[in-house]
Parts: sequence; C-alpha cells; structure tokens
Amino acid sequence: MNPAVWVQRHGARIPNRPAIADGETVHATWRQFADTVARAATGLRNRFGLVEGDRVAIVMTNSPEYLEAMFAIWHAGLVVVPVNARLHRDEIAYIIEHSGSKVAITDLDHAGDVQSLVGSTGALQAAPIAPGDEWQAMIGSPPMALVERSGDHPAWLFYTSGTTGRPKGATLTNRNLLMMSLSYFADIDQVGPEDSILHAAPLSHGSGLYGLPHIARGALSVIPHSGGVDAAEIASLLRRWTGVSFFAAPTMVKRLAGDPAITGSDLSNLKTIIYGGAPMYLADLEDALAVFGPRLAQIYGQGETPMTITGLSKADHADTAHPNWRDRMQSVGVARTDVEVRVVDDNDQPLPVGEIGEVVVRGDVVMTGYWEQPEASAETLRGGWLHTGDVGSFDAEGYLTLRDRSKDLIISGGMNIYPREVEEVLLMHPGVRAVSVVGRPDPEWGESVVAFIVADDADHAPSTEALDHTCLERIARYKRPKEYRFVDSLPTNNYGKVVKRELREMLRAETP
Ligand code: AMP
Repeated sequence: MNPAVWVQRHGARIPNRPAIADGETVHATWRQFADTVARAATGLRNRFGLVEGDRVAIVMTNSPEYLEAMFAIWHAGLVVVPVNARLHRDEIAYIIEHSGSKVAITDLDHAGDVQSLVGSTGALQAAPIAPGDEWQAMIGSPPMALVERSGDHPAWLFYTSGTTGRPKGATLTNRNLLMMSLSYFADIDQVGPEDSILHAAPLSHGSGLYGLPHIARGALSVIPHSGGVDAAEIASLLRRWTGVSFFAAPTMVKRLAGDPAITGSDLSNLKTIIYGGAPMYLADLEDALAVFGPRLAQIYGQGETPMTITGLSKADHADTAHPNWRDRMQSVGVARTDVEVRVVDDNDQPLPVGEIGEVVVRGDVVMTGYWEQPEASAETLRGGWLHTGDVGSFDAEGYLTLRDRSKDLIISGGMNIYPREVEEVLLMHPGVRAVSVVGRPDPEWGESVVAFIVADDADHAPSTEALDHTCLERIARYKRPKEYRFVDSLPTNNYGKVVKRELREMLRAETP
C-alpha cells in the first residue's frame, strides 16, 4: 500500500476541499494536490531517470512544496529521505551519500550547500529547488499513474543521530507508516476532512509523520509562515481553521501555555496537542492543562517505531479525580494498540511490575532495520524486539514510566543530541585532551549541553570562541555546548570509563 493513494482518493472524493494551506491562504485543494503530485512524479522519474525504489532526499524547511515533493516521491514508487534542514552541511552530505539518494529536492536557503554536493557525493545527480521554476517545470509534466508498492517496501528513511556519532537510517516501510496511522485513530484521535494539522515542528520528523494520519483522512495540512512555533501566529491560525491539531515538544507546549497571545485567545478550534519526544515535567503539564483543557495527548515513540510505543490519552489527562492521576501524568502512558511493550533485564528477560529495565517493543510499526547497517540492525532488533535504549518500569495498571536513557541522549528544545558526536568534534581541537558531554536540566530547553574538558595544557586552555568554532565547522549549531567547563580530570570507573552520572549529578546539584 502506497500512502500516495490517499491523495488521489481525496482528489476524486473531496476535490474542492482545501488540502494544503500556506498560513491562512489555501495553497491547494485536494484536486490540485492530487494533480501536482501525479505530474511531479512523472517529472522526477523522467527528468532524472529514476527507477522504482530509488531514494530522493528532501532538504527543506517546512513549506507546501515539502508535502507535494514527499507525495510525488511516493506516487512515483520512490523512497523519501527527509533530512533535518538544521543539520550542518557535512551531516546533510553524509545522509545523502549513505542513503544513496540520486536526487535531493531543496529550497533556496539550502540550495547552495546541497547543489555543491552534486557530482561530489555518491549517487547524487541533481538538486532541484522548490518552490521556483525548477519545481514548476516538474509540475508541467503529464500526470503518471500511481506506482503500486507493497507493505514491505521501504517508504521513508528516517535518519536519527546514533550513539556511534553517525546518523542511522531507520527504514520505515509502507506497512510501518500505515500501522502508525491506524494506531493514531485507535489511541489518540479520530480525524476527518473538517480537521486540520498544523505543522509547527519540522516535517522531516514527528510533525511529518503525524501529517500522515491526517492526510489519510482528508484533513487540511497547514504550514505556518514563521516556520516554527509562534504563539501569535498559532492564535490567528486557530481563528482561521477548524479542528486544529499539532505536534509539539514539551518545551514548546510550555512556552505556548505561558504566552498571552494564546491564553487570551479563543481556543474553540483547537482539537488536540500531541506532545512527546522528551519528558514533560508535571508542573508544566498542569499549567498547560489549565490553559488548553483536556486537549493534550502524549506519545512516546522513536524513529525506529515511528511515534508509536505508548500513549497517554486525552481521557487520561482529563481524569483528574483518579487516585493515580499524578503518577500517570508523569508516565508515558500505556502500550499502543498495535505493539507489545516489555521492560527487560540485561539478558532480555521480562521484568515484573515495578522493576526497572530497558524498554523493548515488537509490532508491525517497528522498522525493518537500519538502512545498510546489518550489524546495528541485528543488535537493535535482537530476538525480534526493538531495543529502545530507554529505561523504565511498568505499574500494575500498565502505565510505563521512563527513568533514564541508557543511551546518554540529551534532548534540548525537542532536538536529540548524542554526546558522543559532540565529544568527537571537540577532541579534534588540539587543546582538548579529554572531554565528556552531558545534559544539564534547563527550565526553557528541557536540557542544555555542557562539555567538561581536560585541557592539554592547563595554563593555555582553548577559548570558548575557538571551541565554538570547532563545533560550528562540523556539527549543527543547536548541538554546540552552551557551556565549556575545564576540569583537571574526568571521573572514571575501574575500567577507565567516564562516569557521566557523576557529572550530571554535579550539574543537577547546582540547578536551583
Ligand atoms: P527520536 O528517534 O528522535 O524520535 O527520539 C526518540 C527518543 O526520545 C526516545 O527513545 C526517548 O528517549 C525520547 N522520547 C520520545 N518520546 C518521549 C516521551 N513522551 N517522554 C520522554 N521521552 C521521550
């Protein structure tokens, strides 16, 4: 089953209803969206000589053309590789090369970087810009029939930062995307053509994934002009469109709940805010519930099992009289309909209620593996279960609470930062002898990045500017440490491994 079938279906069934909005303006009706997709699919296949199963990267910030490109890629029987547009040029190059993408659709902001990779990076042949003349030319092609794809065919390569410092491409099949969409209807919300999904978060990640159940049901996709979470803009879009849902990181929900543009506005068109991707503190959740009412639903997922491990429903949030309400609000909810979730020990044996272990998941939504990484795939999927790297425990009623992340992941402003990647870059500076990067609790960002550094020469420690420069040359800006702290030595265990827990505890003790 090819997800592009939904666009063609709505093009016939509800042709005049809006499909994509550019802020408050309709960009395309379903008829227009379906037509653009079928034409751009021809353009992609013919102009670049692509064959079924070829990969096409998208390196763009959110725009109406993003959705057109994504569905054209699927319509043509190709595989989409959405690349986080905030990544550094070298990181983008790595993903394009590793995925073997032959074409990368890009926007004006990224055109220079991406087009310079043509010819120098693996299979990349072309980097057409959208919107603009090149996209118009693509849409000028005659429409092609939808290419049939099976459930097992890859549809989306979801690149996530890996603990090894290099991103890995979770290979999501058509079946994975379909299960994710169906389980949204089963556990989170019903959706219809009168509803809207607001893409305030990047389409390359959670927001794009959650766009799918909405497109499946003929709802409107709204792309805010600001390209992000802007309270005043969201308030005006809530006046313009009906049945509005959006996906947001907890830090964004907190920011919105405290903004007078939202608190002072009419929220009757707001349907659901799906939050997740990082822990939400109880006090913040209570503030958000006071503003938004029972419109909040939490999801816990991973690129490897897209948006689907557990969920805390709107009904759970509303059930404030329940004796376990506070505990439940600090949990990530119960297993989603389409998966089995277990907590296991170091030998992969299931643990009883209350005991803490690694969270593992099995089901048709779980990826088939990492793109061209057989060893990492076998390790992560050992025994037929996805090993999430998250650590948690179940209560007697089946609510899962996450306790820690065994992968040392830092989540800042909803973005994942793997310390190893930052450490590797800092170690390239000749003045850095040893380094350990950890997250510090941060009221605004959830966590902020702190680097503990042992200088090669304590009397001539590298400057903050020099270290920033080393990072900015190689990794995305948001991954750069907010603080560099020089120490004489790093705490190590008997095996000589740095004990990050001690560093984190030191930072936590300083946090008011
Ligand atoms: P990603 O693959 O980028 O979606 O990141 C997935 C990771 O984010 C998970 O393995 C968790 O560590 C974390 N995460 C996702 N959802 C939640 C949630 N609701 N609460 C706490 N952490 C979460």
